[in-house]
Amino acid sequence: MKNFAYVRATSAEDAVRKLQTNANSQFIAGGTNLVDRLKVFLNTPVQLIDVSRLDLKFIESMPDWGVRIGALATNTAVADHPQIRQDYPLLSRAILSGASQQIRNVATIGGNLLQRTRCPYYYDTAFACNKRQPGSGCPAIQGINRMHAIFGASDRCIAVHPSDMCVALAALDAIVEVESSRGKRQIPFDDFHRLPENTPDRDTTLQAGELITAVILPPVSFAKTGVYLKLRDRTSYAFALVSVAAALEVRANRIHDVRLALGGVAHKPWRSAQAEAFLKGKLANPEIFQQAAEIALQGAKPLTHNGFKVEMAKRSIQRALTISAQGGGVA
Ligand code: SF4
Repeated sequence: MKNFAYVRATSAEDAVRKLQTNANSQFIAGGTNLVDRLKVFLNTPVQLIDVSRLDLKFIESMPDWGVRIGALATNTAVADHPQIRQDYPLLSRAILSGASQQIRNVATIGGNLLQRTRCPYYYDTAFACNKRQPGSGCPAIQGINRMHAIFGASDRCIAVHPSDMCVALAALDAIVEVESSRGKRQIPFDDFHRLPENTPDRDTTLQAGELITAVILPPVSFAKTGVYLKLRDRTSYAFALVSVAAALEVRANRIHDVRLALGGVAHKPWRSAQAEAFLKGKLANPEIFQQAAEIALQGAKPLTHNGFKVEMAKRSIQRALTISAQGGGVA
């Protein structure tokens, strides 16, 4: 780890002001991913700005407009919050399927959005990596790529986004609030994370100097039917091979509305708009769910070692939709 200066921010305005004093500064809150990266020199900031004491731990109802969650609310606080458990059980279950209880107790919602891929080549500085050092190469393409992407990859990077929570937020059409010296803005969740393209070193569309201050969950009347299904190598403290966030609104056995997003398959949470469009208006039955799964996986491009993800994702989608059509619950 390289030495760095440590300062505490007293407000969001103070945090963005301190960031301007040194371009090679980074915010730190829970630090559950950043400290790992500092230890192996993936990040070498001159200054760390501690934002963990800012007044951004709220979880508040917005009349007729869902719930607003402060960026410093911990994963545990959000997953256990009565309104989240009741109105957005999909989000609660996704958070609880990630990491360990100890990590969830300190990891924050804002930090969860910014955690970086767990591609092993990225963390091993003996290897080249375009995400770590642009232009150096991507050894995963010809290497061990069992955990990597089947959608949206480029010839520069085939990594996947590691978050479970973000898959649920994608399905819920969340909105990210950010603040900088230029003012405040809101980013639709689907626009927040990006595909690698030619610049895999950039994971998000955050602009220089911006601090995440909150995440808004719009009201989704059928979110109570939400299901988060995660397939992984062991049943705790493991990243998803494939995950599915699904919610269905079924009226008289016909699908009125639907949300479907996949995790562990792309550089960002992968919303399946074509499958959603297919499902709307159809009968809620196993044949339709099977066809929707086929549509959702159209265009998948498996690599040498991860072809199993295609069938795994299809079966996971069918199971998640089936459980959601029955009213939701644990997958
Ligand atoms: Fe680096 Fe991305 Fe290639 Fe992994 S997949 S080695 S993160 S460029």
